[in-house]
Amino acid sequence: MISKKMEDFIANGSAIRAMFEEGKQMAAIYGAENVCDFSLGNPNLPPPDTIKKAILEVLDEEEPVELHGYMNNSGYEDVREKIARSLNDRFGTSFSQKNIVMTVGAAAGLNVAFKTLLNPGDEIMVFAPFFGEYKNYAISCEADIAVVPANIPSFQPDFESFEKMLNPKTKVVIVNTPNNPTGVVYTEETIIKLADILNKKQKEFNTDIYLVSDEPYRELVYGDIDVPYITKYYDNTIVVYSYSKSLSLAGERIGYLVIPEAVADFEKVSAGANMATRILGFVNAPSLMQKVVAKCLDSKVDIDFYDKNRQALYNGLTVIGYECTYPDGAFYLWVKTPIDDNEFVKMARKYQILLVPGTFFGCPGYIRIAYCISPKTIETALPKFEALMNEIKEKIKA
Ligand code: PLP
Repeated sequence: MISKKMEDFIANGSAIRAMFEEGKQMAAIYGAENVCDFSLGNPNLPPPDTIKKAILEVLDEEEPVELHGYMNNSGYEDVREKIARSLNDRFGTSFSQKNIVMTVGAAAGLNVAFKTLLNPGDEIMVFAPFFGEYKNYAISCEADIAVVPANIPSFQPDFESFEKMLNPKTKVVIVNTPNNPTGVVYTEETIIKLADILNKKQKEFNTDIYLVSDEPYRELVYGDIDVPYITKYYDNTIVVYSYSKSLSLAGERIGYLVIPEAVADFEKVSAGANMATRILGFVNAPSLMQKVVAKCLDSKVDIDFYDKNRQALYNGLTVIGYECTYPDGAFYLWVKTPIDDNEFVKMARKYQILLVPGTFFGCPGYIRIAYCISPKTIETALPKFEALMNEIKEKIKA
């Protein structure tokens, strides 16, 4: 008999898995080229050429016993120092290796941060819509999750509700910008306001409220959109970064945490993250990949590819009559559904379109389209989306 908690995780996780299985079945029946699978945020671009080159160089250059052996749980000091310097150059911060903990991607980074900070019964606050996995991570730490309702249509935080909802049990607030699923980037004004409220509430409650900035999409922004570096605005910020999307290395599981000295109880938080990495069973982030990313700190995937998909989908769907949030970052399009979102997703399946309902992100009435897919899929999907809209209009009329 497995644990009750795991029974619940499996039950809740089955929707996306079922969709994945359904996609495979659809491909067998209709042909893969007719199935438009927009469900997963799995990058479809290859990593930049620098990655393969760096892998080969690291294998040549590094002493093998050291390269493949155990290390400090927080990661190689030289890699952490290089990352810290790169952040300082880009954002005017003053980090060193002691502020960086290498992680097994953002998912691990979040779990390490939560394990370090949270006692059972503490509260994590998130803004709807939010990455659904946060709920599982909260349950895993026996923390409660509080959801600030969506601020429609900007999808910047709803500050009035946020301020009202903060309470002495709030230990962590998560922000995710550029955002999954909306593609919205929080403005500098938003971050300043957020920091003001958090500082005020910390004083009022005499508590520490940690702002966890989940940033796997930081590099995926379009045009000259600025993504403010949040540690500069609020002292109690921990940054969770990942190379899964920026370098298309999702399967390699590599990222890092930034824990600035200004964070409350810095020494303990830092020691805690080192220990959490170990006891969660990661022990340390993959050694080869640590050395590889350290050589590729200025590399990025071809953002123009995602940009073309973004324009094609946004323009194509708005012409048909869909209401879409214009994404400034990430590779997701957030679309209002003229009917219940679960019903919409069900109807879309008849057209071999696979989507994730907004309900999964704590925001019903919308769907998420992941556009890290081939342009051909968008071309195939647009007439299907049009037929779907016509069917819905007929249904509403009847
Ligand atoms: N946070 C958000 C908002 C995500 O969208 C994802 C992955 O899609 C993750 C965290 C986890 O990323 P990683 O692959 O680095 O664990």
